[in-house]
Amino acid sequence: MKTEVLRIKTGSDHRDAVDQAAGVLRSGGVVVFPTETVYGIGANAYSDDAVEKIFRAKGRPQDNPLIVHVDSLNSIGMAALTGGISIEPLKTLWPGPLSVLMKKNPLVSSLCTAGLDTVVVRCPDNAFARDMITAAGFPVAAPSANVAGRPSGSDAHDILAELDGRVDLIIDAGRSKFGIESTIVDPLHRPPRILRPGAFAVEDLEKFFPGIVQEKFKIGRDEKPLTPGMKYRHYSPEKPLYFATPAQIIDLNRSDRGREFAYICSRELSGEIDGLRIELGSRENLYEIASSLYSSLRKLDQVPRKMGVIEVFPERGIGVAIMNRIEKAALPLGRAPKS
Ligand code: AMP
Ligand code: MG
Repeated sequence: MKTEVLRIKTGSDHRDAVDQAAGVLRSGGVVVFPTETVYGIGANAYSDDAVEKIFRAKGRPQDNPLIVHVDSLNSIGMAALTGGISIEPLKTLWPGPLSVLMKKNPLVSSLCTAGLDTVVVRCPDNAFARDMITAAGFPVAAPSANVAGRPSGSDAHDILAELDGRVDLIIDAGRSKFGIESTIVDPLHRPPRILRPGAFAVEDLEKFFPGIVQEKFKIGRDEKPLTPGMKYRHYSPEKPLYFATPAQIIDLNRSDRGREFAYICSRELSGEIDGLRIELGSRENLYEIASSLYSSLRKLDQVPRKMGVIEVFPERGIGVAIMNRIEKAALPLGRAPKS
């Protein structure tokens, strides 16, 4: 398959690119498009054939359902049956980095929802994405734009390297604003619960979903996952990666085996250590850390070191999502080979 790439600039007229992307979607093709969280790899959510192409392009297991994107709150009925839940909070929260579990509209492909009678829906805060969905005329199923198991695509450059030849069109809008996926909530459950931490700070959900609980996102080998995606290896570079506190990283850096590692760390810690460093941004701004996280994990595979170590961050605000992704992509430093 030949992949076409179209570059757009934020704020400039993107009408031609919208028409072209919508045309590809209408003919059953697959388009990588920008959102404010990460890039999505999208297709017609009503078409089994089109949705199947997403699973194939990503190599995604078919029991891992896709998020369905709509262009506005008014179009929510095109993806979901909203009886039984209050859509009031979404009047404030959408468009934005929050995805919501609902009963599925029967028109949505059951391949897209992995046979479940629920669907996770989101309205992205990205003008191109919404205009494209409007022009297509149907909701767009879209998981993150990356090969399954790899770090999500938050930079068009990384995505082209990974998905060239697997999709019809890539809309290149530079780097994603948040760089981390949406927060997913399940308001159908009593009490409402968070299914995945993400770009929307979990602390801010309580006022919109009173009594919302944060269940544990890590599962033991025999436990039933809260959501199908939880059981898969995720976000991983090819090289072994370990996570550690700043103090542990300083110790490692001073030890003999310190030279074998690449250090993925904040600017602050980078100033205290030697060797090959991949800087994430300031520890004082977790949004900066989130936005460079996935491209930094990808860089690890390109540098001349056998393995990497990544700094841990405080679990507050978007830090909850950062640590959720780091703990999936990496093991504790204690499990690294000793020499
Ligand atoms: P991604 O598209 O890669 O951002 O992942 C979407 C996540 O949403 C996956 O982890 C899925 O498990 C979760 N998800 C999507 N649809 C449903 C659903 N109907 N029920 C529960 N979880 C879902
Ligand atoms: Mg993903």
